Amino acid sequence: MNQPKILVVDDEPITRLDIKEILCEKNYHVVGEARNGEEAIERAYKLNPDLIIMDVKMPNVDGLKASSVIRGFSSCSILLLTAYSHDEIIQNAKEFGINAFILKPLKERELIPAVEIALNQRIQELQLHDRIGKLESKITERKVIEKAKGILMVKLDCTEEQAYRKMQRESMERHIPLIKLAETILSR
Ligand SMILES: [Mg+2]
Repeated sequence: MNQPKILVVDDEPITRLDIKEILCEKNYHVVGEARNGEEAIERAYKLNPDLIIMDVKMPNVDGLKASSVIRGFSSCSILLLTAYSHDEIIQNAKEFGINAFILKPLKERELIPAVEIALNQRIQELQLHDRIGKLESKITERKVIEKAKGILMVKLDCTEEQAYRKMQRESMERHIPLIKLAETILSR
């Protein structure tokens, strides 16, 4: 991940300023800010941040509601700011995949470790996505190879193993990956 992008959301300008100052002092990249949940959703979509630090209590669309919408299109980390830690908020937060809570009034010594952990979770999330993507394409490749093998078995009237060995040999001799060869066989 390049320099992680952080979106700051709070209806109080002074709190946004505080957070931005703390983050900028530590060389984090604040990519944007929003005053309410509605703006947060719109900016999250547009700016694709890695982390959103968001107040719970805001007019119109609150932080929890905004988180639930943002979760629909983004796997970014979300830190919620709240003056209270009601059971209901915590329950909702778990449902919406909130990474952590930070209690208001904000303290630098609490914010920075929470940001670090949330960004680290984001990195792990991205790595997991990457691994799943690779696994999925492997499965797709596997299916294409199996299909090509089946065609060869019929064409050459041979066993599964013989068909596979023939494909392997041809792949080596022609210096093309097995999957490319399988695709050629299917397109013949
Ligand atoms: Mg507020």
